[in-house]
Amino acid sequence: MTEPLIDTAAAARAYELDRAHVFHSWSAQARIDPMVVSAARGSYVWDGEGTRYLDFSSQLVNTNIGHQHPRVVEAVKAQADRLCTIAPQHVNDQRSEAARLIAELTPGTLDKVFFTNGGADAVEHAVRMARLHTGRYKVLSAYRSYHGGTSTAINLTGDPRRWPNDYGTAGTVHFFGPFPYRSPFHSSSPEEETERALRHLEEVIAFEGPGSFAAIVLESVPGTAGIMPPPPGYLAGVRALADRYGIVFVADEVMAGFGRTGRWFAIERDGVVPDLMTFAKGVNSGYVPLGGVALGDRIADTFAERPFPGGLTYSGHPLATAAAVATINVMKDEGVVENADLIGETVLGPGLRELAERHPCVGEVRGMGVFWALDLVSDRATKEPLAPYGGTSTAMTELVAACKAGGMIPMTNYHRLHVVPPCTLSADEAREGLEALDKALTVADRHTVDG
Ligand code: PMP
Repeated sequence: MTEPLIDTAAAARAYELDRAHVFHSWSAQARIDPMVVSAARGSYVWDGEGTRYLDFSSQLVNTNIGHQHPRVVEAVKAQADRLCTIAPQHVNDQRSEAARLIAELTPGTLDKVFFTNGGADAVEHAVRMARLHTGRYKVLSAYRSYHGGTSTAINLTGDPRRWPNDYGTAGTVHFFGPFPYRSPFHSSSPEEETERALRHLEEVIAFEGPGSFAAIVLESVPGTAGIMPPPPGYLAGVRALADRYGIVFVADEVMAGFGRTGRWFAIERDGVVPDLMTFAKGVNSGYVPLGGVALGDRIADTFAERPFPGGLTYSGHPLATAAAVATINVMKDEGVVENADLIGETVLGPGLRELAERHPCVGEVRGMGVFWALDLVSDRATKEPLAPYGGTSTAMTELVAACKAGGMIPMTNYHRLHVVPPCTLSADEAREGLEALDKALTVADRHTVDG
């Protein structure tokens, strides 16, 4: 790969301006030292000094086809030359084609697509559709979840980032989903976890009023909260409960969708069809902001004669949907989903499990495709997390620094390290990242009782 030219002076200036004028997400503004990213290609990014890093974060689990794919860059350029923007009430050929491709890929009768600007507003609109469809207002969501930073979406989110944003629950009812490693139900097998988690969910519904729920919003594989593939039968059980109580099943595939799990959509692994499905990120590899809701016939028909009271100026923006059309075609032509599955099965999964055997700080390895989490602990026997829930620790800070020093950028969340590279990752790149991780984990090992 030819190295990109980095203008170090321009990068230094960008850093200064950022610190002076940019207000960052989820941060204490004076306590951060953000990294300048000056260039990116494929699985790599370069900082302001020209140092190269393997991107094991996909920039918030986003660049599923890697950075700067020439076909997508070309498609956005061509669309910019032709037509940059139109109002959403008009027909836009890129939006039409993106909707056709998405309808074709999504399971069951999810044949209509409402486009949004990202994931949070997709969740907001899905909940609105469910409330209007059912005439009910309460919504179920899991404690271990992330659904976005806007009002309804952050309210549904279980992650501690909800705590300072929770001004009353506005109809949201949280429940515990299944999580065999740290079982809220003290189960001893995945099957038992499924059974107890479903019983718990049904009990919550019973005590909150079976006729009061509009929707259950559920990540098919919870991502930010720890990449926790549901145990066998859980999603099918949720589908059955939703049917029993007339609840709209919203599968949130914002992070897990578009190839990440080695399937187009994570829910395919369970053979379950939701009523609504939210997506964003991987739909166009994040090259231009885009998200959306795929609607099944039942919900779409509610608004056949009655107007849908919702919308966005940029719903199906031509540049964003042109990037989606090009991304999906690249994924089909280059076997990107199959690659994610193969790399997960043959290199990342076995490699991470092998690291877990040697590093006492790794409590559990979970995942599939290019969607993996290391659950880090200070004591394997007690499963004491390496950082407190909702917080950080010296061990985690040192671990991230060690990954970067080894030329790899991971994604971390509290006591977990997430390995979430592009779906296009090669076997050599996977091995390079595992090597960097191996070295970095020795730093975290020192913070364990065995280290
Ligand atoms: N849902 C899920 C499952 C997500 O992972 C995220 C973002 N990480 C969102 C919704 C919100 O997406 P956005 O940040 O694009 O609003």
